[in-house]
Amino acid sequence: MILVVGGAGYIGSHLVKELIKTKEVVVLDNLSTGFRSLVDNKALFVEGDIGNVEVLNRIFTEYKIEAVMHFAANSLVGESVKNPYKYYQNNVSSTLNLLNTMIRYNVTNFIFSSTAATYGIPDVDIIDESTSTNPINPYGKSKLMVEEILEDFSNAYSLNYVILRYFNAAGAHNSGDIGENHNPETHLIPIILRHLLGETESISVFGTDYNTEDGSCIRDYIHVTDLSSAHILALNALLDKKVERSTYNLGNGLGYSVKEVIKTCENVTKRKANVIETERRLGDPARLVASSTKIFDELGWKARYDLESIITSAWKWHSQNKL
Ligand code: UDP
Repeated sequence: MILVVGGAGYIGSHLVKELIKTKEVVVLDNLSTGFRSLVDNKALFVEGDIGNVEVLNRIFTEYKIEAVMHFAANSLVGESVKNPYKYYQNNVSSTLNLLNTMIRYNVTNFIFSSTAATYGIPDVDIIDESTSTNPINPYGKSKLMVEEILEDFSNAYSLNYVILRYFNAAGAHNSGDIGENHNPETHLIPIILRHLLGETESISVFGTDYNTEDGSCIRDYIHVTDLSSAHILALNALLDKKVERSTYNLGNGLGYSVKEVIKTCENVTKRKANVIETERRLGDPARLVASSTKIFDELGWKARYDLESIITSAWKWHSQNKL
């Protein structure tokens, strides 16, 4: 049995839908940002918080957990700056509780969702795992703190782990059944698509004076289905003892500017956006593009979906959102 914490959220629910094809899965989620309806009905579901020892004890006693996959975190940069307590409490302290429980029950395989935000403002164009980490906001710091805790737990308690640093997750499951839904929505692609559905008057490009080809920020967008396949490879590698502790970037290795993303959304949807150019958003690095060659070399993973397929799948979801 695999325990997926945060399995009712955007990325977790996509992973569960794939993982359930080969494994038994129990999802633990407090539904603070996730939705019960996103969880595949073949998975067991427990509503609860990873900070709650009793809930964890119950799960680890009741089920023979082989590995834990951890998606249960707050992930908004701006909110983390305004309310760091929430981020250190939920992302660090509660994770410590989860890890401590795993050790008590002798469960030693852990997959951790980390982020490109651990790199801060890198001084290289293409980021690989040896690029120095220097997060510039509490969200990125909270993720890096857990990465460091994992290293210490591995040394002291023989915990085996894979850390996956996501770049910009986007897109929806090809079944059209599940997709991205945040409230409030802050991510570029859903913001554009919701605008193109008529939900908002306009969209903003946050900054056009960056040192990039068209002046807007460049990001590496990765299909949520590609993230799922990377998690499953990482899990199997851990269970087969092919890896013990590894950190991998997950990206396409291609950068797209905000303006290019808007254009691609217009092309896919055949609709025209009302675009306003505004001030920079605080804390945005100009360019974040991943090298994912490490996970290709070691586990054979490669992103399969390009920006157009990401947007096509997201459009299908947003235009018939069933939540
Ligand atoms: N962005 C934008 N307008 C929006 C939302 C985002 O111009 O309404 C930009 C943002 O400044 C960043 C990129 O789009 O350069 C991706 O932002 P998002 O919040 O989707 O992901 P992040 O890179 O912050 O994780």
